[in-house]
Amino acid sequence: MAQILKNLNQIQQDLALISKQKIRLLAVSKKQSVQNIESAYEAGQTIFGESYLQEAIAKQQQLKHLDIEWHFIGPIQSNKCKLIAENFSWVQSVDRIKIANKLNEALTYKASLNICIQINISNESSKGGVNTKNINELAKQINQLDNLVLRGLMAIPSNTNNNEVLLNEYKNLKMIYENLRNKYSLIDTLSMGMSNDYLLAAQNGSNLVRIGTKIFGER
Ligand SMILES: *Cc1c(COP(=O)(O)O)cnc(C)c1O
Repeated sequence: MAQILKNLNQIQQDLALISKQKIRLLAVSKKQSVQNIESAYEAGQTIFGESYLQEAIAKQQQLKHLDIEWHFIGPIQSNKCKLIAENFSWVQSVDRIKIANKLNEALTYKASLNICIQINISNESSKGGVNTKNINELAKQINQLDNLVLRGLMAIPSNTNNNEVLLNEYKNLKMIYENLRNKYSLIDTLSMGMSNDYLLAAQNGSNLVRIGTKIFGER
């Protein structure tokens, strides 16, 4: 679809203007059709994110012929870890050690799985993600697991148009990220920014934005 190509080009252009640093664009394809994913792929998009495991696996089956880097970004139940580890190369939504352990155990034959710790930056109880005060402990534990590669942090900021609140959260995330980067050499990913806030996030230290609606339209 021409619209998907247009949207992707627009976003890439915006990101290039904002930052000299390379910002990776993850196309969030949850609830989008296989056809839409193919259109985005034909337009040059190769990194896709999914939130619902069954739906994701069904679509992956149909898209095996494409060289896609799949990221899991949804809530994780511990009994789904094996399937997630087998079907994704990144998991961005790890927020407790039990899940990290299960992902690690599932990877007996595969080299490694890239991990971002999801952090609950707004500290809302309804939200997924580890509490800011527990981040160092979780990072330390994950770093000790042989089959996992700790790559960085992922966060969903407060659902608000109040830039001051958002800027404050980005600033905290960036600080925690830099702190981790000093400790662990393979950390290179700060995943923040979605359709409504990716420009602001990119201006404030994000190097991976996760965009669904702005590429594919409403879900
Ligand atoms: C759905 C989702 C997105 C994309 O949201 P849009 O507003 O459609 O861009 C990004 N990150 C996560 C974790 C999501 O669940």
